[in-house]
Amino acid sequence: MLENAQRILKDVFGYDSFRGRQAAIIERVANGGDALVLMPTGGGKSLCFQVPALLREGLAVVVSPLIALMDDQVATLDELGVAAVALNSTLSADQQRDIAERIRRREIKMLYLAPERLVQPRMLSFLQRLDIALFAIDEAHCVSQWGHDFRPEYLQLGQLAELFPEVPRIALTATADMRTREEIIERLHLQRAERFLSSFDRPNIFYRIVPKEQPRKQLLGFLSARKGDAGIVYCLSRKKVDEVAAFLSEQGFPALPYHAGLPSELRAYHQKRFLNEEGLIMVATIAFGMGIDKPNVRFVAHLDLPKSLEAYYQETGRAGRDGLPADAWMAYGLQDVLLLKQMLNNSEGDERHKRVEQHKLDAMLALCEETRCRRQALLAYFDEILDKPCGHCDNCTDGVQTWDATEPARQALSAIYRSGQRYGVGHLVDMLLGRDNERMRKEGHQHLSVFGVGKALSEGEWRSLFRQLVARGLADVDLEGYGGLRLSESCRPLLRGEVNLQLRRDLKPQQSAKASSSAASQLVRGDEREQWEALRALRRKLAEEHGVPPYVIFPDATLLEMLRSKPSTLPEMAQVSGVGARKLERYGEAFLQVLSGGEEAPRAVVDLRHELISLACAGMTPAQIANQLQCSQKNVYSMLADALAAQQISLDQALDLPEDLLLEIQDAFLDGEGELPAVSEVSEQFAKRVDEGVLYCVRAALQAEFQL
Ligand code: ADP
Ligand code: ZN
Repeated sequence: MLENAQRILKDVFGYDSFRGRQAAIIERVANGGDALVLMPTGGGKSLCFQVPALLREGLAVVVSPLIALMDDQVATLDELGVAAVALNSTLSADQQRDIAERIRRREIKMLYLAPERLVQPRMLSFLQRLDIALFAIDEAHCVSQWGHDFRPEYLQLGQLAELFPEVPRIALTATADMRTREEIIERLHLQRAERFLSSFDRPNIFYRIVPKEQPRKQLLGFLSARKGDAGIVYCLSRKKVDEVAAFLSEQGFPALPYHAGLPSELRAYHQKRFLNEEGLIMVATIAFGMGIDKPNVRFVAHLDLPKSLEAYYQETGRAGRDGLPADAWMAYGLQDVLLLKQMLNNSEGDERHKRVEQHKLDAMLALCEETRCRRQALLAYFDEILDKPCGHCDNCTDGVQTWDATEPARQALSAIYRSGQRYGVGHLVDMLLGRDNERMRKEGHQHLSVFGVGKALSEGEWRSLFRQLVARGLADVDLEGYGGLRLSESCRPLLRGEVNLQLRRDLKPQQSAKASSSAASQLVRGDEREQWEALRALRRKLAEEHGVPPYVIFPDATLLEMLRSKPSTLPEMAQVSGVGARKLERYGEAFLQVLSGGEEAPRAVVDLRHELISLACAGMTPAQIANQLQCSQKNVYSMLADALAAQQISLDQALDLPEDLLLEIQDAFLDGEGELPAVSEVSEQFAKRVDEGVLYCVRAALQAEFQL
């Protein structure tokens, strides 16, 4: 059996060996047993049911919660030469009948379905008349009412156990906690399933958390070493998402916003572009989440603090699904703590619920202020013990300096207390530093005994200290939500001198910026760049032809291996991990040509135009685009005009023109009969008012629109 599995792995998927527990899982299911698979994102869950599906007789039925996830998997299988289809609401009745017919003729090996569709009585009886190889229930945590992805339709999947007692079922999830696990077993009737629990460590992710000083500047510093990489930037509010996306585009990093306030078509469009294009940054609220199966997300950056470690783990986990180096980066500051604590105080819900949320937030804060290995701390929270520090997080690589903050902390607490427990950090720091300003005088605080006692520390050091006091629960935020600080019960031992306090010393911003670039996840070296881009360009061209995202043609890891092992014949190409028989046949030759340098990659035109469209859609002006692509503005206009003529972009995406001016230009072109006048014929009329390139663009758009 395992020999056959191994053969399928190599022939169909192009991989040499199974990872982690894949082989054991596949053996179990192929032999007809049930399985519960808990594996982190990127662990390789799909193969766990796809290989048994190919080993067993009959149709494999895969339940998946989102159309996007299904389409992605079906496209991937299709490229591998496996007959798979997704039945969903976007298909017409005719198409659905056609699929049913092909299933009856046994032409289809794998059927993807949403749960609500599977449990329709008609569907169930249709399936009962067929040979079923297995049921796979993906994202099985959706059955849990406690998780944030609860889908009531999942509850009905339990009946499969009774309706199809002979058919093996495999449930898979990347959500690890005990409670969810037990719920899956109970609700899906998986009591007899063997459990396969993997480590939840994501070794390829580098974790870094920096104190927030000038977040945008820090973000740019982080991104500067990652130009051309795809990533996600999470922010708390919609407004901030819009602002940051605009800011990044202005700075030459193509970025799109994503949040629940955008029209759903626009959201879907942005998501699609994120999947299909390379090097795009999605700036998003947490509304951008499940369904992001893009494997080559190279970084996840947080400009605001997540509410819990569960959320942090899940959000950062969207980076590096392909197993290649990826970064999780976060800037975190006192304002985050204050804001989240206030939101919690003001939230609805009973006391017990609030206490749970409070604990979760405290655990998140503890990770931020952690002085030991971040990965050890993170995994420990999920009950997993990592023996040694990981060597792959900021604390491990940069080291953490601590200092004895006992005395200054007492001064800070006393400043809070003596001023009546209602002032914010700004004023408290002024007080400690002895700043004799208007506010100080108005409140009479220059007479307090703590006034000016803290001159030994800088303003930044005081702010860091206050942040850590709040993060550790030694001081609290006022309940009214004005950001004033109060003492909390737990600070008494410190005030009484019974305990000492060791705090983290924040790195200077320059230091942390330097450190973050040295850990950059650069995949390819400078001298490999050109060929890498050529391979990516070919992949993109093929992807466009086939109407699939580039990673469906070949994942980055496969391209990287081609780049390094430089196959020069088809048999050598077949050795590359990720090159199965079908892909070898379809694409082997084309990639060999690029590798031999024979074919000048389609880079020049296709690529540049592609990038140009991304930049224009991201809101950049032609001048900014010219700057970014390092070509003349004239060139940008001419490429924009081509893109407009080919209807790859709309006029308002390409140019930002005042409405009346645009109308005037259009009128000028449409004045005569028949053929549009040439640009030279109208250019005088607009001389000095717009760049000639604008006229070319408007003309091209008119031409495309009216097919003139
Ligand atoms: P998950 O669903 O657990 O997040 P996937 O099934 O999408 O993970 O797999 C993640 C990536 O790892 C995919 O690109 C997949 O092709 C690759 N992969 C899975 N198993 C193997 C293997 N045994 N060898 C090489 N690559 C693998
Ligand atoms: Zn570490």
